[in-house]
Amino acid sequence: MKVVVTGGSGFVGKRLKLIKPDWIYLSSKDLDLTNYLDCVQYLEKESPDAVVHLAAKVGGIKDNAENPALFFYDNITMNTNIVKACVDSGVKRLLASLSTCAFPDKAKDYPFTEKSIFDGPPAETNRAYGYAKRAMYVHILSCRKQYGLDYSCFCPSNLYGPEDCFDLEKSHFLPAAIRKLHEAEEESKVEFWGTGEPLRQQLFVDDLCQAIPALLDLHHSDDALIVAPDDQHTILEMIYLCRAMIGKELFIDFNGKLDGQYRKDGSNKMFKELLPDFKFTSLGDGLEKTYEWYKESIYNRD
Ligand code: NAP
Repeated sequence: MKVVVTGGSGFVGKRLKLIKPDWIYLSSKDLDLTNYLDCVQYLEKESPDAVVHLAAKVGGIKDNAENPALFFYDNITMNTNIVKACVDSGVKRLLASLSTCAFPDKAKDYPFTEKSIFDGPPAETNRAYGYAKRAMYVHILSCRKQYGLDYSCFCPSNLYGPEDCFDLEKSHFLPAAIRKLHEAEEESKVEFWGTGEPLRQQLFVDDLCQAIPALLDLHHSDDALIVAPDDQHTILEMIYLCRAMIGKELFIDFNGKLDGQYRKDGSNKMFKELLPDFKFTSLGDGLEKTYEWYKESIYNRD
């Protein structure tokens, strides 16, 4: 099966390549998804059996808050172009990545399920990104309805792991925490965004990458299939876990700004029905692997 992966040079794409090296991995240099004509010409020429769409403009809370127009335009353009180019070039199978950021800021019940995605607006802190993901989901549902195409979406919770972005201006919470605590002087105070109270499910990136080929085979429904681990932790608990792993005496302080959504835990019930034997990596094991990778990457860079 010939499979093309967009976002192949990104965090998830690089890890997926280790599991599925025979698939074709595209960076933005190989194909700029903001250009519809390039997309359709590429797919007509390559004629893949399936496209796995991972490419996106992704960032942490600070980056999302400071650049909402860019997040909206890039994501809505890339997503719309690739879905339409798949339709127009006759691609029979598309599996696209949403994010739990597309889910409502406040759900009626927790954990939320695939059915609750439109129950309220996404969190203000990632509204542009969340609505662009929702728009892609509607586009894909419409292609299923109008053309009967086997296009579907999965929805990962927060991800972390090797190859993640550790740039403090752009990164998500866990890589930022690891870097800040790693770089801090012994017995110093380390400041974090928000209050430390929000809860997050953190999915180890290799778990998602193990699941993607299986979802390509098995996930053929309308549902925005949630891929998330069983447990969730407060930001403060995760900082304590990272601090213990790094092994320094450090004082933790919160600045109260940009706290983000209080909770956004999604149910993995449907995912487990599809993949009953799937085992999620524990947060402790995943953090150890991530920290090992981070130390090696700075050692190799220096
Ligand atoms: P990432 O590391 O930021 O990588 C983004 C990818 O998109 C890169 O390969 C990038 O290519 C590509 N891209 C950006 N602009 C492009 C353009 N104009 N044309 C073509 N490609 C372009 O993202 P990620 O963390 O791997 O995320 C993968 C997917 O998972 C995304 O759909 C994201 O929404 C979803 N997701 C991520 C998380 C998370 O915590 N990271 C959580 C939930 C869902 P270049 O680098 O070559 O420019």
